[in-house]
Amino acid sequence: MESVRPLLEVRNLHTHFFTKTGVVRAVDGVNFDVKPGETLGIVGESGSGKSITALSILGLVPSPPGKIVDGEILYKGEDLLQKSQKQMRGIRGKEIAMVFQDPMTSLNPVFSVEKQLVETIMTHEDLTKKQAKERAIELLNLVGIPDPRKRIRNYPHEFSGGMRQRVMIAMALSCNPSLLIADEPTTALDVTIQAQILELFKKMQQELDMAIIMITHDLGVVAEVCDRVMVMYAGKPAEFTETKKLFDNGKHPYTVGLMNSIPKISPNKEKLNPITGLPPNLSNLPAGCSFAPRCKHAMESCLSQDPTLIQVDENHLVRCLLYEEVKKAVTT
Ligand code: SF4
Repeated sequence: MESVRPLLEVRNLHTHFFTKTGVVRAVDGVNFDVKPGETLGIVGESGSGKSITALSILGLVPSPPGKIVDGEILYKGEDLLQKSQKQMRGIRGKEIAMVFQDPMTSLNPVFSVEKQLVETIMTHEDLTKKQAKERAIELLNLVGIPDPRKRIRNYPHEFSGGMRQRVMIAMALSCNPSLLIADEPTTALDVTIQAQILELFKKMQQELDMAIIMITHDLGVVAEVCDRVMVMYAGKPAEFTETKKLFDNGKHPYTVGLMNSIPKISPNKEKLNPITGLPPNLSNLPAGCSFAPRCKHAMESCLSQDPTLIQVDENHLVRCLLYEEVKKAVTT
């Protein structure tokens, strides 16, 4: 990979939740960077820490009970964790925008799309109401809403699920962010609409030259749009590499399990091969490797030794003791 200065650098991020039943280590030592214009996938099961990583970047971790207890989040070289709430409000939407899974939870049902889009644009840009409306219409056109001059007057419930997601994307793009975080943006959509929305992300990225963090549990989405991918398990990266390498040669037993869980079209009607067991309780993690209770390759040492990320190939990191003896440990 060529060395371009990253747009975002997340270093040793720990986000914990202090609950009555104990400390939930939702994000427990995450390191990654995002280069300008690239798409990084963050993949894993529910509760693996993907969404909390995103909320940490945006300064939206609900506090209490959540708290970023350690780490740095450098955006264009400046630590977002040192910014005030007011400064973060200026960064959210303008520099870093987010698209959520369900647009109905983000769009206000009692206001028209026009009011919501115009308000968002005017919060960040020095435009008159008339200019902001023209920009809003331009954006709706850009994301493929037919007849945007008329549809802008509609309310969210008057759009289909796919169209609402397009409106959300228009809202996220309204101030030309350098980084877009998309959290399961296609999960609630049917497959044909999902394909259209993924195409739209690719088109927007090329036209606006922005970086994307794509959070998903769906490896199909990763294959479609991501340049690199970080697989997360129990709040930590399990594997981090280029998308092609992950699909050609995924190494972590959890990654291999995720790959094997994908249904395949075969004349032999092969049985699905899911990962057995459940993700661990993040407030009571097992000693050693947190994947050990579900791992087919678990060894004696896995029950006591917590693996570190090791480099197994160029741009390919894996957190697993199977590879530790043969490769040099690296700090990431
Ligand atoms: Fe499995 Fe051991 Fe590797 Fe953990 S460290 S993934 S238990 S082989």
